[in-house]
Amino acid sequence: MPTKEEVKRQIREAIDRRADQIIKVGETIRHHPELGFKEIKTARLVEQTLKDLGLSPQTGLALTGVRATMNAAKEGPTLALLGELDGLVVSDHPLADPETGAAHACGHNAQIAGLIGAVMGLLDSKALQHLAGRVVAFAVPAEEYGDVAWRVHQAREGKLEFLGGKPELLRLGHFDDVDMAMMIHTTPRPEDKLAGVGVSNNGCVVKTIRYIGKASHAGGAPHMGINALYAANVALTAINAVRETFREQDTIRVHPIITQGGVQVNVIPADVRIETYVRGKTVEAILEANTKVDRALQAGALALGAQVEIETLPGYLPLFNNMEMAEVFKANATALVGEANFTTIGHRTGSTDMGDISHVMPTLHPYMGGASGMGHGADFQITDPKLAYLGPAKALAMTAVDLLWDDAATARGILSKTQSRMTKAEYLAFQRGINRRVLFDGMTLQTKPLS
Ligand SMILES: [Zn+2]
Ligand SMILES: [Zn+2]
Repeated sequence: MPTKEEVKRQIREAIDRRADQIIKVGETIRHHPELGFKEIKTARLVEQTLKDLGLSPQTGLALTGVRATMNAAKEGPTLALLGELDGLVVSDHPLADPETGAAHACGHNAQIAGLIGAVMGLLDSKALQHLAGRVVAFAVPAEEYGDVAWRVHQAREGKLEFLGGKPELLRLGHFDDVDMAMMIHTTPRPEDKLAGVGVSNNGCVVKTIRYIGKASHAGGAPHMGINALYAANVALTAINAVRETFREQDTIRVHPIITQGGVQVNVIPADVRIETYVRGKTVEAILEANTKVDRALQAGALALGAQVEIETLPGYLPLFNNMEMAEVFKANATALVGEANFTTIGHRTGSTDMGDISHVMPTLHPYMGGASGMGHGADFQITDPKLAYLGPAKALAMTAVDLLWDDAATARGILSKTQSRMTKAEYLAFQRGINRRVLFDGMTLQTKPLS
């Protein structure tokens, strides 16, 4: 019987033998980016690759997710290894899809390469013979929360309830048999070094806003119209004014965009649309900031006598990394990249639906390098394919071995100590409670005379 370190060495060697194949997966996806819930070709590549490895993947989970289960020799806990399938719209990225604008400007292609590579390493080395429990390889859709109007439409047609991939997979029960989950995100930031793990991430709610005014001749009769664009302008200014009330420790981020500002220049705009997130470090802080944003949005309608429809959608919950899983990852990551190239990151102000998973089970979402440029920027590139694709493959598989070795002693220890923040039922109830669509009429407000 080999030692744990021998098994981990065999995994690294197996992944190195498959290097060309794993890098090809990462590069193929990088050159064929698809948006969330529409990752058809990417999902098919994952499905075919898993089938070629002898697995029997389930497909079409939350529209495009792909999941395969690998049983270890003995009974034990189930660890899910995740990779995200989606790109996002960065139209001026050199590899952007000319039709959709989708690009892999967040490096999710490297997550899928890493996931596939980890599966190859575990299977080729026959590591599962020495482990207890199950490893689930899970390619998940739609981490980037964009394309909101299309997703809302899918929801109205009953094809989705939640508009992010992991929340929807949770709802549908595809995590019901999973005890703990991890993934590794690519980072282009030099300060994240070659590998690192943070403590937490912001969560968010998502808002779609529609100002309803009244069209009229912009030159001949502007006084007959109600300018929805100016109502929106007042609202954006009001949001900027309330920013100074946000406390540093809550790391609130509000970043609205106007997705429709008017349709014809000589017509007073009557239908203007905004999308925004309200992000923060805790659920309480997000909800408090959201109340202020709603007031600011109403102020715009009030000033112009317009109406505003405000839709608040469940976004992502804050991420809390399991610090014991982080220690296991750190040992493996430093073995791969060296102690000096590992860093511990504090709180991050982006959001991920891995936060939702972290509320219901021990979860880990660390980072590895191999990329450059700006995350979500046109200059984001995979610059070191070996580190970006093979590094996560090795770190995922080695961490799985550590967690499930010795009758899964480490995984069982973490599970026995960890109280999940929410049950699945509590999670679903909370997110459903966020959903709200209201109309505020800025014209019909009443005031009372004061004596
Ligand atoms: Zn991203
Ligand atoms: Zn990402």
